[in-house]
Amino acid sequence: MAEEKKKTCAHLGCNCSADENSQYCSAYCESAGATPEVVCGCGCPGCA
Ligand SMILES: [Zn+2]
Ligand SMILES: [Zn+2]
Repeated sequence: MAEEKKKTCAHLGCNCSADENSQYCSAYCESAGATPEVVCGCGCPGCA
């Protein structure tokens, strides 16, 4: 399937949509990207 415009954040545990030019939804997830978290702490709506 072709890659869609909406990407999911690459941070394990995060269900946010990533920015178009990033694998992550936020700087938080970018720094925490390699660390799986049960509960994402990025603070985005839906991740609280
Ligand atoms: Zn998140
Ligand atoms: Zn994220």
